[in-house]
Amino acid sequence: MVRKEKLNTIFKNLGLIDYKWINSSDIIVSTWVRVKCTFGCSDYGLSVCPPNVPSVKECRDFFGEYSSVVLFRFNFVADKENYPEDYSKEITKGLLDLEREVFLEGFPKVFVLNQTCCGLCSGCVKNRIDCKNLSKSRPSPEAFAIDVFSTIKKAGFEINVIKTTHQEINRYAVLMIE
Ligand code: SF4
Repeated sequence: MVRKEKLNTIFKNLGLIDYKWINSSDIIVSTWVRVKCTFGCSDYGLSVCPPNVPSVKECRDFFGEYSSVVLFRFNFVADKENYPEDYSKEITKGLLDLEREVFLEGFPKVFVLNQTCCGLCSGCVKNRIDCKNLSKSRPSPEAFAIDVFSTIKKAGFEINVIKTTHQEINRYAVLMIE
């Protein structure tokens, strides 16, 4: 049984106040997500992206090994052509701090799926072995075949397709806890 009160305090202390708890069975994993990562995404091949991640079946099995999930929302207005990489890096570092704090609280299985494709350094390599920061790089929810749109909507959050170059961007991170 996950002790949510203590974890909620950790989230708050790290400045993370926009989140929802869901059950791991509410995560929707779909093959079409992997197909979209493979055909159509310019990040394909990065160290934390397909094909350098488990298969869709392995991802589904992975989520089945957890009971609780926290979805963290990060909304910000940005120019799609001028993505705020430094801001995104700060979010990533905060999520890594979060994973560490929850681990130390007594949850050895805790794992965070980042709100973006790592992005900790420029010139991301094309395989896991040569990753420049192996201990800190984490995959995104979609890299693990999560249907982010359906999962987020099912949880009661809003998420929008980006239609113009300058509008609110909705990013979500997933914290797996057992
Ligand atoms: S740490 Fe650097 S090399 Fe490794 S996945 Fe992240 S951006 Fe790529």
